Amino acid sequence: MTTGIQTAAYVFASILFILSLGGLSSIESSKRGVLYGILGMLVAIIATVFGEKAEGHVYIVVAIASSSVVGILLAKRVKMEAMPQLVAMLHSFVGLAAVLVGIGSYLDPETKTLINAEQSIHLTEVFIGVFIGAVTFTGSIVAWGKLEGKIMSKSLLFKGRHALNISLAIICIVLGVLFVRAADVYGINYLIVMTAIAGLIGFLLVMSIGGADMPVVVSMLNSYSGWAASAAGFMLGNDLLIITGALVGSSGAILSIIMCKAMNRSFISVILGGFGTVAVSSGTSTIEGEVTALNHEEVAELLKDAKSVVIVPGYGMAVAKAQYPIYEMVKELQKAGLMVRFAIHPVAGRLPGHMNVLLAEANVPYDIVMEMDEINDDMPSTDVVMVVGANDIVNPGAEDDPSSPIYGMPVIKAWKAEKVIIMKRSMSAGYAGVENPLFYKPNAEMLYGDAKDSIERILGFLRSK
Ligand code: NDP
Repeated sequence: MTTGIQTAAYVFASILFILSLGGLSSIESSKRGVLYGILGMLVAIIATVFGEKAEGHVYIVVAIASSSVVGILLAKRVKMEAMPQLVAMLHSFVGLAAVLVGIGSYLDPETKTLINAEQSIHLTEVFIGVFIGAVTFTGSIVAWGKLEGKIMSKSLLFKGRHALNISLAIICIVLGVLFVRAADVYGINYLIVMTAIAGLIGFLLVMSIGGADMPVVVSMLNSYSGWAASAAGFMLGNDLLIITGALVGSSGAILSIIMCKAMNRSFISVILGGFGTVAVSSGTSTIEGEVTALNHEEVAELLKDAKSVVIVPGYGMAVAKAQYPIYEMVKELQKAGLMVRFAIHPVAGRLPGHMNVLLAEANVPYDIVMEMDEINDDMPSTDVVMVVGANDIVNPGAEDDPSSPIYGMPVIKAWKAEKVIIMKRSMSAGYAGVENPLFYKPNAEMLYGDAKDSIERILGFLRSK
């Protein structure tokens, strides 16, 4: 393939990637967006592999074939609720790739022939690319551990952590200057020491972020992985990788800002590892009230007497795969003349848009799926709110308990309804590890058990009379 054709293919692939992002901005066009993305990636791979500069096709084919098998197996096996962990793991691969490309590019004999400004520019690209890659790599591994429950989701706050982070960053800058100036054998030493320090920075940044702020971290690491890819594009002289990385980097950054706004958090403080946050107690002030519970038949009776119902889905709905019987129940209630709507919190579940994806999977029509801001004002006029496997996103402590780690985060005001049914298996806390005073409110009732099983049993009672 000539360079001209390859450039044309790269431009075409870039356009497809931009169309893909545009398509992903709404639920209706998202499938088309995914198809554009797949097509764009196919064009990009073919144009790169058959390009003039490519060598060692046997290795490339073996690498693509074996990694495709691993990818397909992983994607088929992964459970929907484990998707965020997979995404975090994939981000770590991009980070690692940027580190390896950087070191490889530095050691490449061809780049050693560069002189003066060209050499300095190339070494700067390598240094920055490896730095971003290493931060992304370790940060994503910690994010994976926190999402998987292997590492505590509570923030690791210790005295002097900001001073430590700043000192590490300054050491990296000094190493960068030495690296660019050292056109000799010591260069690789500076690069390797910086890689280790950058890895430590990534580790510390994500460790210091608490459970409730993890959504921002996931989208922020997505952004970092984009910049890491872009940096790799500069090192390899591949325009398409630069463009694609910049698209991922900037869209991830925009998503992080949107998520921070939705959670009433300062973007800067979250990306600097909770800068400005103070250590808070993991619990709330003493909770008053008593916890009471209903059985499935009693909940079915409550629903029959209601006129308006709001369902608040959370992570537990994803775990239980309760979205299918929930939609069956919604249809049953609608047949009986009830107004039923869903209330979606921007960080419900473990991925941005997690609940929307699950409800769309069960064919729930979009017009009854409301965003938190659209529905919160309707809560006082709602007869029954069913909280299905959600916890942090309906925690009133976020509004009235300044000692709570999630204080200030907007929540769905389920407690303002006439009656609240909380469907979960136990009294255990949500992802942020905070106790929920909602369970103790006089108008709240627990319905213990697996969400799918509970909904099926309620549905049985609704259908039996
Ligand atoms: P939570 O994690 O706060 O609560 C989920 C609840 O579901 C748990 O308390 C659990 O209680 C219950 N549950 C688990 N399995 C089942 C089951 N099979 N049947 C019924 N209930 C079940 O989830 P929310 O959606 O309320 O809040 C999301 C949290 O995750 C927020 O803190 C958010 O910041 C964080 N987060 C969000 C991300 C995103 O992008 N959306 C990314 C990373 C973190 P029990 O064990 O008693 O059943």
